[in-house]
Amino acid sequence: MSTDPKKWVAGHVASLPKSGIRDFFELVAKMKGQDVISLGVGEPDFVTPWHVREAAIYALERGKTYYTSNLGLIELRRAIASYVAEHFAVDYRPEDQILVSVGVSEALDLAFRAFCNPGDKVMFHQPCYVSYHPSITLVHGQSIAVPTFAKDNFALTAGALRAAWQPGAKILMLNLPCNPTGGTCTREQLEAIAAFAREKDLLVLSDEIYSELTFEGTHTSIASLPGMAERTIFLHGFSKAFAMTGWRIGYACGPAPLIDAMMKVHQYTMMCASIIAQEGAIEALQRGWDNVCRMREQYHRRRDLIVRRLNAAGLACHSPRGSFYAFPDVAVTGLTEKEFAVGLLEQEKVAVVPGAAFGANGAGHVRACFATAYDQIIEACDRIERFVQKIRK
Ligand code: PLP
Repeated sequence: MSTDPKKWVAGHVASLPKSGIRDFFELVAKMKGQDVISLGVGEPDFVTPWHVREAAIYALERGKTYYTSNLGLIELRRAIASYVAEHFAVDYRPEDQILVSVGVSEALDLAFRAFCNPGDKVMFHQPCYVSYHPSITLVHGQSIAVPTFAKDNFALTAGALRAAWQPGAKILMLNLPCNPTGGTCTREQLEAIAAFAREKDLLVLSDEIYSELTFEGTHTSIASLPGMAERTIFLHGFSKAFAMTGWRIGYACGPAPLIDAMMKVHQYTMMCASIIAQEGAIEALQRGWDNVCRMREQYHRRRDLIVRRLNAAGLACHSPRGSFYAFPDVAVTGLTEKEFAVGLLEQEKVAVVPGAAFGANGAGHVRACFATAYDQIIEACDRIERFVQKIRK
């Protein structure tokens, strides 16, 4: 008897859209060997600093090859507590307020599973990181997308939140600085958002994975504002600022009963993050800050270059205050973001991501990641300029 295997796929999984990024990179993969410059993938071009790699090698040499506690190595949780207190001005107890996860990705998944009942509503600003909406769908939650705009440098405002709020909203998902826009909020804007969260009794999930890559002003964590630590899960990790994407290591901090709820899910699913990665993470936190600053300087230079060049090419591009993404408006070309990205790839061999991959509010824009060597960015911008000139003729 012939059968269609698709019938076994759960309905809510079948309904997930194919990631716009994956879709586009299948196209890029077909052009392998053709001198494509990728401004597509959101990944540092730096290799993890040597002293961190060495710490992991040394851990293996000492035979550290076993499971750790579900919450993670206590030495790592202590290092995280010190780091978060110093850089984000929030105090968490290593014993029961910190959970080490397999990247921020796992921490996000745990949070949605632990806090979102079917039908619960989750607010998030959009354009946003590709995984938020699908993660909410996977727990049968409902998404409320709150638009942010180029004219505001893509900062989220309390006014926009209020306009989008609906009865039943339970969770507010924040990502500041934001992937893909680089937008973030001033302290005053954040205070207004915090007041809104308290007024509406929202639990805040704050994904601050790009916080060290803040180029203007200082980053403020919403968890550090009065009355917010008790309703915030602070999510952070090593992938971006420490150039450790492949290590798969992140963490969640928050009120003990909430971390315990996430831990309940984690203990039956991932159990723990890799001990080798955890050993590397301890080293990164204890002696890695100089390298973080050096990499940030490089990103800062590249940001200034790409923003200047994109604007000179005729593509309006605000200057992202954080992250390593530029998010230019391509409407001036008369092409949709998808047509622009495909045309640029096929004609000039530069890969950028169509903005609609980050939600409907990303339409009309593309994301260009500047975690790429300075010279490559110059060459990519030359090609973008040529492409725009050709289109506009
Ligand atoms: N959150 C945001 C906003 C991201 O951009 C990414 C990766 O691109 C992640 C989370 C996932 O990070 P990790 O590598 O720690 O799982």
